[in-house]
Amino acid sequence: MYEGVIQQLIDELGRLPGVGPKSAQRIAFHLIESESDVAQKLSEILLEAKAKVRFCATCGNVSESESCSICADPKRDQGLICVVEESKDVQAIERTREYRGKYHVLGGAISPIAGVGPDQLRIKSLMQRLADPAIREVILATNPNLEGEATATYLTRLLGSMEISVSKLASGLPVGGDLEYADDLTLGRAFEGRRRVN
Ligand SMILES: [Zn+2]
Repeated sequence: MYEGVIQQLIDELGRLPGVGPKSAQRIAFHLIESESDVAQKLSEILLEAKAKVRFCATCGNVSESESCSICADPKRDQGLICVVEESKDVQAIERTREYRGKYHVLGGAISPIAGVGPDQLRIKSLMQRLADPAIREVILATNPNLEGEATATYLTRLLGSMEISVSKLASGLPVGGDLEYADDLTLGRAFEGRRRVN
């Protein structure tokens, strides 16, 4: 334990996801020992990001305005909605350049252990979007792990009776992992080989 403000900094950094006590200590000393403008720049960009970044009113993707750049793009196919857990999954799919439709970001996955049920996810707004007759297909692209599968199963049941085609990414993605860890080629193929589930 250090005294005073340095320990407070270590404690705060240690609360961040993926940062253990040792890393927190290393980052804290790096910030203190480096040129004064490193800490200055970091604190400024943190506050700016916190103030400016919000979530798209339509799809829930990270955005700096009311609509994210994908929802605002008239060249994207309005008839396709790809359902993902987080904004980082949108980034992973965009990298493959295989998909030209729209997205819907749930904000997580169903997890009884973590106390996350369907009501905590952006499912109601998904259903509202699906009332648009222009929508032809919903692609379920949740993570290939227990929570992601549970979410996909729930949505398949929920959407099953609708006229809209519901499809799921082809298997071949590394099981138990996150979409973001799949390489672009594998993810692109999983997209191409998606199969209808309703
Ligand atoms: Zn959007």
